[in-house]
Amino acid sequence: MKILKVKITALLGFALMTAASPCMAADNLISKADLRIAAQLGKKAYGSDLAYKIDESLTTEVGPRRVGTYGDSAGIAWAVAKMKAFGFNKVWTERVVTPGWYRGKIEARVTAPYPQRIEAIALGNSVGTGKEGVTAPLVHFRTMAELKAVPDGSLKGKIAFISLRMERAHDASGYGKGGAPRRKGGIIAGKKGALALIIRSVGTSNNRITHTGGQSGNIPAAAISNPDADLLVNMFKRTKEIKFFLKSTAGRTKDVITANVIGEITGSSDPKNYVVMGAHLDSWDMGTGAIDDGMGVGIVLAAAKNIIDSGKRPKRSIRVLLFGAEEIGLYGAAAYVKKHEAEMARHVIGAEWDLGTGKIYSLQPGVGQTALKAIAQMAKL
Ligand SMILES: [Zn+2]
Repeated sequence: MKILKVKITALLGFALMTAASPCMAADNLISKADLRIAAQLGKKAYGSDLAYKIDESLTTEVGPRRVGTYGDSAGIAWAVAKMKAFGFNKVWTERVVTPGWYRGKIEARVTAPYPQRIEAIALGNSVGTGKEGVTAPLVHFRTMAELKAVPDGSLKGKIAFISLRMERAHDASGYGKGGAPRRKGGIIAGKKGALALIIRSVGTSNNRITHTGGQSGNIPAAAISNPDADLLVNMFKRTKEIKFFLKSTAGRTKDVITANVIGEITGSSDPKNYVVMGAHLDSWDMGTGAIDDGMGVGIVLAAAKNIIDSGKRPKRSIRVLLFGAEEIGLYGAAAYVKKHEAEMARHVIGAEWDLGTGKIYSLQPGVGQTALKAIAQMAKL
């Protein structure tokens, strides 16, 4: 999941600049006619449950879509069929090569002094412990800074545990901060010599469920549920000598092939300039992939369908870009940039939805000075 705040109505305002109405005057304002169209589209979108219905279709007919699985290829076929049914002018796929990984089975428990089962999940791209598993002393770090501070090699023969908690925030900033142990913990703990890494799940649920996600270290790495992380913290209040057993049969495989799926509404008078609305089609395998990121898929496809159904052709081409292999490390996005390098300067605006939708409360564009007036018009919408 990445963080994005540009919301759909604003983007429609930008995309739907028709050939008939001069889109941007010298002062870079959006014409009144185009603002009207954008407002109509926004009203239609907010009054419709189409995005939800698309997501429901994806999760019911396909389900989870982790790269390299049956669901991944079924999801690609689903997206192609959906785009064709919606009336896009062009629909195609582009090959994406991505590292392969399998989850295997995991077992985790405290063996002493308070033997208890621990609810755990392997982190994406992590290696396994071998069939026997490892039993080793657990070393507690409350923050990444504490882990970084210990000398290299000092965790030899030990398992590192980072208890950093993700804080809930309206703009999801807590996910970025709370996710550091998952993204970097394995690399740093490995450098310190650790046998394995255990982190608190990057999520705010108090239920005994775990949250997976990608990581880049080369030691076995797992997340445990919030209540289980609390349990370990409470044990550490009583003793520093905690022994932990971890067995993970996760592992890496040779590269696998997946795809980006692209649907284009070809522009009327400026078709070689592009407005891109993206979301990732792949998901992790433990849920149905409804929220991360079936919801984004629903949002961008519904927006495009509303534009197609309006009967008005945008001036520029709109590309709905459903990325493959996002979760394992943004491989679909990188493949798109590489393949379209020569036309990247003609990508007028790009946005990606991976945080759901709701009432717009913030618009934070990364545009230049000359476009700011137009952004203010969008914000009004
Ligand atoms: Zn996501």
